[in-house]
Amino acid sequence: MKCRNCGAEIAANALICYKCGTATSEAKIKPPARKSGLGPAAIAALVALALALAAVAQQVACPSLL
Ligand SMILES: [Zn+2]
Repeated sequence: MKCRNCGAEIAANALICYKCGTATSEAKIKPPARKSGLGPAAIAALVALALALAAVAQQVACPSLL
């Protein structure tokens, strides 16, 4: 491929141009995306669900016991 900066012919798997040092692509090295497990949205949904269940349990328990 060609360097997008200086146009020099460089190896296809080269990370940077040997002439000018420009990176051939920004997307070669990415920060690891951790998508496994629960995200913040899922945790927030679980907390909201727990609060709703607790509120329903209180409403159901109090009138029936008193
Ligand atoms: Zn170059």
